Amino acid sequence: MIKLTGLRKQYGETVVLDGIELTVEKGEIVVIIGPSGTGKSTLLRCVNFLEQPTAGELTVGDLTVDVERASKQDVLQLRRHTAFVFQNYALFANKTALENIAERLIVVDRWPKAKAHARAREILERIGLADKADAYPASLSGGQQQRVGIGRAMATGAEVILFDEPTSSLDPEWVDEVLGLMKQLAAEHQTMILVTHEMAFARDVADRVVFIEGGRIVEQGPPSDIFYHPQDPRTRDFLQKIL
Ligand code: ATP
Ligand code: MG
Repeated sequence: MIKLTGLRKQYGETVVLDGIELTVEKGEIVVIIGPSGTGKSTLLRCVNFLEQPTAGELTVGDLTVDVERASKQDVLQLRRHTAFVFQNYALFANKTALENIAERLIVVDRWPKAKAHARAREILERIGLADKADAYPASLSGGQQQRVGIGRAMATGAEVILFDEPTSSLDPEWVDEVLGLMKQLAAEHQTMILVTHEMAFARDVADRVVFIEGGRIVEQGPPSDIFYHPQDPRTRDFLQKIL
């Protein structure tokens, strides 16, 4: 379970997140939508302290942290419970697919190398890239690179995987294989919070869609409600533009 209570983020005087209240249950798939510049990425990045939130509380599993008083230890603990999938994959160019997946296990979780590599091989099998273990990112397609990015998140066993527009950088031909892998994870009840413009995916896979505008949650509910019966004029307006 992950819970955001009164989460705020400001850059100087600019308020980007204005008191976000959001609870995501174990196994839930939550899709965040909203106009550009509205705080979606910031929200995800605050959850694992890629950005330091300004105020509020974060709960992940049995750990609750007041973000203003978070110790280094708290931040490490929060990060352990979450994994991030980036729009631009963010793979290490000088490491193989296998090493990219094993890296955090070795460096952060202090696994012995052999154990981490065995785990990485298992993951490569699951993401359909067993034959690419020794390939470097530059020799992989965009779709394969992002599958490695997702594999890296899977390997950590994190309770929650955060995806920020995981298919937005991909050539159209690679989008389906990445969405397919995400569907596989969803079917395994991996808890996921994702920002995406893939509305068909959101409709089919999400348990809940959250519409954000101006750093606030405007409306949320099952995809059928949000997409077909939005209540708030701002949600209607946004959907009209993108659907
Ligand atoms: P998009 O759909 O374009 O990805 P988004 O909803 O993810 O947009 P964010 O990237 O979270 O939006 O940005 C929200 C706001 O915060 C924007 O107005 C942005 O300019 C501002 N912002 C983000 N990072 C910083 C920063 N490091 N310093 C100052 N302002 C920032
Ligand atoms: Mg963004």
